Amino acid sequence: MSDPETLSVTIVDGYVDEPAHFGVPPYISTYPRYTAGALVDAGVPREEITYHTIDGLRDEPDRWRDVDEADLLIYLGGMTVPGKYVGGTPAEPDEVRKLAWTASGTSLMGGPVKFGVGEENAGATETERQDLDFDFVAKGDVEAAVHDVVESGLEGFDNRMRDVDEVSRWAREGAFIVEQHPNHPEYLIAELETSRGCAYRCSFCTEPLYGNPTFRPPPSVVGEVDALSDLGVKHFRIGRQADILAYGGDGEAPNPDALRSLYGGIREVAPDLETLHLDNMNPITIVEWPEKSREGIRIIAEHNTPGDTAAFGLESADPLVQEENNLNVTAEECFEAVRIVNEEAGWRPGGPRDPRPDGHASADEDAPTRLPKLLPGINLLHGLKGEREETYERNLEFLRRVYDEGYMLRRVNIRQVMSFDGTEMSETGAEIANDHKKLFKRYKRQVREEIDNPMLARVAPTGTVLPDVHLEYHQDGKTFGRQLGTYPLLVGIPGERELGKTTDVAVVDHGYRSVTGVPYPLDLNAASMDELTTVPGIGSSTAGDIVVNRPYESVADAEFGGEVDLEGFATARPLERAD
Ligand code: SF4
Repeated sequence: MSDPETLSVTIVDGYVDEPAHFGVPPYISTYPRYTAGALVDAGVPREEITYHTIDGLRDEPDRWRDVDEADLLIYLGGMTVPGKYVGGTPAEPDEVRKLAWTASGTSLMGGPVKFGVGEENAGATETERQDLDFDFVAKGDVEAAVHDVVESGLEGFDNRMRDVDEVSRWAREGAFIVEQHPNHPEYLIAELETSRGCAYRCSFCTEPLYGNPTFRPPPSVVGEVDALSDLGVKHFRIGRQADILAYGGDGEAPNPDALRSLYGGIREVAPDLETLHLDNMNPITIVEWPEKSREGIRIIAEHNTPGDTAAFGLESADPLVQEENNLNVTAEECFEAVRIVNEEAGWRPGGPRDPRPDGHASADEDAPTRLPKLLPGINLLHGLKGEREETYERNLEFLRRVYDEGYMLRRVNIRQVMSFDGTEMSETGAEIANDHKKLFKRYKRQVREEIDNPMLARVAPTGTVLPDVHLEYHQDGKTFGRQLGTYPLLVGIPGERELGKTTDVAVVDHGYRSVTGVPYPLDLNAASMDELTTVPGIGSSTAGDIVVNRPYESVADAEFGGEVDLEGFATARPLERAD
């Protein structure tokens, strides 16, 4: 029998990526936070709980000692959607096995890893359930398993789900773990759960394995944000739910009052938050309850921060694929939902469509252009049952229509299916995805060129200001970074700037999924040749002239000639004097 008060516990975060839950840095998922809270609730002292990310273990081999020496090792991880990540590298199955072998104490594994493990974390793969040599695998909620295994003296637990009271308590009590995350405090975004489960049953999706939706009431989520905010977290994403519009309702229809309590409550307890984004919204909800949805979308856009994305799971615009996979939204319905989100939330702060009385007043030509408040994103999935060549054409047609009719999409996400036990797709597996690999590649390139690039220029036109871009890595003489938030744009800035810092950036050019930017405001008295020539219309000879004729008293003072319009994003700072 182990006494909780003397128990040392190490939590290792191998990261998660589920259809409605993200936890690869700079995100921290709910799992380590709730697990830490469950441990404290079961009597384990906070100072006995150590938290490492898998990247933290890779960076500092000494940290493996905490894995070895803990009385209880908890591994959290699992990828149920494929992806490529900039901020961290998810644990590979071999690393997870090594954790189990290294642990001298009891080992327990949980999170979406319970749904299965593939050869690699990639699309078009099949997975199977494995214990990866751990003593225990939590087949219910890992936080409930952790709580119960500690109470049992590390003897065992029943697989069960936690209830609302538990999650409310554990979310608050476990918030302290964020301080041990390598990205804390500045570059960390906390994923927030508002509900689990889904009313629909798409063939490939693991979310229905959680059953019909259950919601955390507003005070439960708001209390958690309060605790996280007290610990210095300023960035939040309401990403752990299948459909934010259904929040607090009957499982399908929107409940704007619940959304108002949720968003209003968060703003009240974290008035200084810098990011408040969401992830999933179901387009079918918008089409079936348009008025309530419009109200809900307006509430979100009033409280969120710019650049927010409502990810729509269209998955396929082909009716045959929709039918065979039980997908719940048609291309026509999805188009309608795109239109409604654009109308209600596609405005820019301080821009002409800003509906807020003070926002509208500030709308003037000198206000920097910001990203729209909330735009739809489109998820398309390939390798589903019934997929044919025509499917690819139909998807392209849908995207072209959105573009041609003048609407904005924040991003298009194209993936190949991963097949999991317990979902209908497990019978088909990765066969169709593998057969269509060539087709998929060609189509992906078409989407990038025909849709993504011009759409990005519409969403973030030249001169759009992106505040607080975190500088992450150098490549080809440039510095790349992203803002914190949901599906942030990758920004390339000329020159190698100091990493780990943040800077405001003005967009000057567009790639497929990334933009080129210059520091904002661009100081004509200090900008480098590289920065100047990145601005559209400034060639190297104009840039040379700008440098030679320094200093300038004002932007107007500098003669560029030609069509160059720098007024919106350049400045001329006085030079510092030696005296
Ligand atoms: S609507 Fe379909 S894809 Fe979305 S969470 Fe529900 S089951 Fe999954």
